[in-house]
Amino acid sequence: MKTTISSIIPELTDRIEANQRTFVVTANPEIVMYANEHEKFLRIIQNADYVVADGIGIVIGSRLIKDPLPERVTGYDIFEQLLTWGAANHKKAFFLGAKPEVIAKLNQVISTKFSGLEIAGAYDGYFKDEAPIVEAIKESQPDMVFVATGSPKQEEFIQRNLNTTNGLFMGIGGSFDVLTGSVKRAPKFWQNAHLEWLYRVIKEPARISRLAVLPKYLLKVRKQK
Ligand code: UDP
Repeated sequence: MKTTISSIIPELTDRIEANQRTFVVTANPEIVMYANEHEKFLRIIQNADYVVADGIGIVIGSRLIKDPLPERVTGYDIFEQLLTWGAANHKKAFFLGAKPEVIAKLNQVISTKFSGLEIAGAYDGYFKDEAPIVEAIKESQPDMVFVATGSPKQEEFIQRNLNTTNGLFMGIGGSFDVLTGSVKRAPKFWQNAHLEWLYRVIKEPARISRLAVLPKYLLKVRKQK
């Protein structure tokens, strides 16, 4: 979807105010390739209200097919701006994902940096049974549900449970780790040079194999062109 960070925020907040259920997918080449190979997952993505280009690979791919996207819109930036808006407007947010110690820290960060935002629930992402979590969402009726369990787990969870509240649902990968300082995001210089992916590989060398998907993705985009 051709969107920019400054245009999407007011659209999303208007929808939240109108109690319009909204599913936002933050797409990177890994997600697109996975969808290409898994039809059920592809249908989930197609069912989303917004698919934003998180990851410079998607933006590069869009240029290759001469249908350029205006900019990269990261899930993390949307997340932070929605938290700020939610705090100013006394909204209710539900958090699901990351390790238990990260969730404990997240509770502190939200109540200090985003006081005004009500925490409807905060659960770590290593659950065996999702039923109590789903019950908690139904009971608390949050305005925003942030699911940070990585892909495809987060999108699958959202798809199954979209009918629990008339709010916004968004899958945001490692964003709780970043917000709590458990993982550092690349400094602005790296982000602006579109090298955030390189920074992350240097910090977490185990991610190197995940990069292999990018050339595969670009090749596929070229072929389809
Ligand atoms: N995670 C989780 N449950 C799981 C597996 C992963 O909550 O079963 C969390 C993990 O702790 C991390 C996030 O999901 O906070 C995924 O991070 P990653 O950096 O892989 O996400 P990306 O943004 O790259 O998709």
